[in-house]
Amino acid sequence: NRRIVLAARPNGMPTTQDLRLEEAAVPTPGPGQLLLRTLYLSLDPYMRNLMDEAGTSYAPPIALGAPVVGGTVSRVVSSEHAQFKAGDLVLSNAGWQDYALSDGTDLTALGDMAQPSLALGGLGMPAFTAYVGLLDIGQPKPGETVVVAAATGAVGAVVGQIAKLKGARVVGIAGGADKCRYAVEELGFDACIDRHDPQLAQRLAQACPDGIDVYFENVGGAVFEAVLPLLNHYARVPVCGVIAHYNDEAQPPVPNPLPGLMTTLLQKRIRLQGFIILDHYAERFEAFRREMGEWVAAGRVKLREDRVDGLENAPAAFIGLLQGHNFGKLVVRVAEA
Ligand code: NDP
Repeated sequence: NRRIVLAARPNGMPTTQDLRLEEAAVPTPGPGQLLLRTLYLSLDPYMRNLMDEAGTSYAPPIALGAPVVGGTVSRVVSSEHAQFKAGDLVLSNAGWQDYALSDGTDLTALGDMAQPSLALGGLGMPAFTAYVGLLDIGQPKPGETVVVAAATGAVGAVVGQIAKLKGARVVGIAGGADKCRYAVEELGFDACIDRHDPQLAQRLAQACPDGIDVYFENVGGAVFEAVLPLLNHYARVPVCGVIAHYNDEAQPPVPNPLPGLMTTLLQKRIRLQGFIILDHYAERFEAFRREMGEWVAAGRVKLREDRVDGLENAPAAFIGLLQGHNFGKLVVRVAEA
């Protein structure tokens, strides 16, 4: 049983030394348990937060020496559990390892899916995050301008495409010319700006002549600084993630930007709302699954997966994700489906 454990807490950007490949015995299920074989492992930005000692508001930190946590599509190998049998395909949280035990409580049966890895991306958590954040908090109206960064990623690509379906004008921000071309030509965005462009603020202003009504926040940092002056009165800002800060080592230096930010929020009556997708499954997941399933089947929402082969390549792929090297939803194929 190969597994990748947290060998050391990263200091800033993780290194491959922080994430160690180990061999362990394949565990045996006890009464009520089942043994899972990982087929696909999802790599997601939140994992970086769980590598810090403080953890997050929604999950504890990964213990040193423990396998890195993560959502997986897994096959039941053997089962002592009444509801699952050998051969079943399930969505689980088996983490960065070949095999894992489960008591069944965190499993969702997937049945026969043509492309099971989509349960980790376009038909799963990241797309659900896009759906809830955009529709429930962002509430885009026809003709409004929606801006989203990490625009070709797992969340951002879905945000932009749903915003187009709702009649908005969509401007993406992404890392590099290839991603920007894809956002416009394949995903149907109206424009896309390269976040590495030294003229980012000016380019964004040119692409948003009527200002910004909805800014779906995935990144923070320099992108948010470029967005803030362009926000319209009554703009909505779903705060989904701030990946630009996940590897911050120290507090930002003076001058303190908060007074200016607060004044802008007040005077422009802007609604800025954070959300954690775990809170919304009970209320919204069924609606998401139905609607998103229809959009994808009809070709109205396109999904792009960035697939890496082999568990041993997960650390490098994850570090790449934190630097924008992924192009689409990042998934590791751990074993043949
Ligand atoms: P992506 O597939 O979009 O991959 C991450 C992308 O972030 C990179 O490809 C890169 O895109 C961009 N990025 C990386 N570093 C920086 C940086 N320093 N500055 C600006 N952009 C950067 O990831 P996801 O779609 O899975 O996640 C997107 C965001 O959503 C993350 O912040 C994540 O934490 C958050 N999230 C929040 C959830 C919630 O419940 N609130 C649930 C799920 C995700 P590029 O190079 O193209 O700019």
